[in-house]
Amino acid sequence: MEHILDFVRGSDSLKIVALTGAGISAESGVPTFRGEDGLWETHRAEELATPEAFEVNPTLVWRWYDWRRNLIATVEPNPGHRSLVDLARHPRISLNVVTQNVDSLHQLAGSDDVIELHGNIFELRCTRDGTSRLQRESVKKVPPTCEDCGALLRPGVVWFGEALDNSRLSRAAELVSEADLLLVIGTSAVVYPAAGLATLCPGLSIEVNNAATPFSNAADLVIRSKASEALPAIAAGIITALGGSDADR
Ligand code: NAD
Repeated sequence: MEHILDFVRGSDSLKIVALTGAGISAESGVPTFRGEDGLWETHRAEELATPEAFEVNPTLVWRWYDWRRNLIATVEPNPGHRSLVDLARHPRISLNVVTQNVDSLHQLAGSDDVIELHGNIFELRCTRDGTSRLQRESVKKVPPTCEDCGALLRPGVVWFGEALDNSRLSRAAELVSEADLLLVIGTSAVVYPAAGLATLCPGLSIEVNNAATPFSNAADLVIRSKASEALPAIAAGIITALGGSDADR
């Protein structure tokens, strides 16, 4: 960490990108896909979050999404999410959050302009014409249908095997390739193309994850602990090294 803080001390301003995955929300109570709580009933996420599963059994897929939507609607952001907001408030830091999460917890914590690479679980999208709307409340029936045309609605998330929104992906790539510091937080770094973004950073990188990932070897610093414990310490260290916060505001 000293090496990173030396770099921060020598900087006038800092462009930070936080690339986040399910791990940052785990301590808020949202299960990750690949962790111990990753199973729903007897199904693995990879078997449910696919266009093929929806085609074959939309009711099963919607029962799972209904369960996840209801769970996520009750949880709160944790100190990990909030530390990113603290960093972004520093007058000489510009921080962008690029997330694979679909839970809106960064926005709820107070992060602005979050790039949601994989969409948002509260978005309901018509499978016929693609129109969508946000609804945090539970769906009235499973599977839900479009009030206008009667076609099936689907969650506004990117399923395995589907393409990401190009403009979001290219904006994320641009931000990462201009970053002085990249924080790779709670992502297994195996889901592409999101995982590939981490390699684009010309600056320093810190991985925060309680387990090893394919990105670990490439990171300048690996912090093997929970995001909610590591991020407040990282944020405080950076803010102090950059010259405090209150005096500058
Ligand atoms: P993942 O489930 O594949 O991996 C989670 C990673 O977080 C693992 O590497 C794990 O070691 C780490 N982790 C677990 N608890 C942690 C903690 N407390 N602190 C730090 N790290 C911790 O998730 P992923 O890499 O984000 O990718 C899988 C896909 O799953 C994404 O596409 C995403 O859309 C989706 N997903 C989203 C949510 C959410 O929105 N909260 C939840 C589950 C899955």
